[in-house]
Amino acid sequence: MKILLISGHGAGDSGAIGNGYKEADLTRELVNNLAPKLRQYATVDVYPQDRDAYSDVNKGNVAVNFANYNYVFEVHFNAGGGDGTEIWVTREEAHITVEEKILSKISQYFNNRGVKRKNFNVIARAKRSGVSSALLETCFIDNANNVNTYKSNVNGICQAICDGIAEGFGLKNNGTTNQTIQPTKKSNEEIAAEVWAGKWGTGEERKNRIQAAGYDYNTIQGLVNKGVGKNGGPTNSTSVPSKSALDVAREIWTKGNWGSGDERKRKVEAAGYNYNEVQKYVNEFAAGKRK
Ligand SMILES: [Zn+2]
Repeated sequence: MKILLISGHGAGDSGAIGNGYKEADLTRELVNNLAPKLRQYATVDVYPQDRDAYSDVNKGNVAVNFANYNYVFEVHFNAGGGDGTEIWVTREEAHITVEEKILSKISQYFNNRGVKRKNFNVIARAKRSGVSSALLETCFIDNANNVNTYKSNVNGICQAICDGIAEGFGLKNNGTTNQTIQPTKKSNEEIAAEVWAGKWGTGEERKNRIQAAGYDYNTIQGLVNKGVGKNGGPTNSTSVPSKSALDVAREIWTKGNWGSGDERKRKVEAAGYNYNEVQKYVNEFAAGKRK
């Protein structure tokens, strides 16, 4: 299961404004909180947050291929003096089980305004690519009660959305936690170098973006603080293994460390070991050839 999360507005379009907040900021906050939760159930990508998906679709300049996903979920905040949550799907969407599930979960915080249908730009474009899509209007940014409830319960509200999506699709928790997500594309050192190059912003923004991309913020900030990647890095030596491949295999076999499957491969490689070599030893343990 692959899910694309999109924060509505941005790239110069603030979206609606109310009670001292800009919609574009709230949609980013929400997606950056939701993404790590949802990664316990699915592969989750976040649409580049320095862009505005709406204008990208209009200009035919979309940064991702919607067809690579099973679900596209776009986040907005409503305006106009109403109260509560609504979710929009395209007229072509056959089933709204997932959206009803999300609404039922989030209704512990907000009035449930139901699932509605309209072919908004981004979700319509996703649907034309053959992908189910939905647009969440989380609550009303110009309703002080709504915004206060949102701001005091960001975590719980994102958990409710996550639970709704997971239950709606029948997804199983894959056992990962927010802390153990391993980057699949770049090494921590490469990200540290990008931080030095100014690609990840500063302060809270940097933290949110690094976490949303699936990296461990503390690890990367630690490297940055040590000056790793400062002069354009990354260095060739990523991590220097401190144990032999056989030691690692023994830990896997006797202690159950390092996880299993893809997770094990990622962790073993991230620590600088040759996965095939480690796995070969594990297989020998399993076959009784080693103790
Ligand atoms: Zn909006």
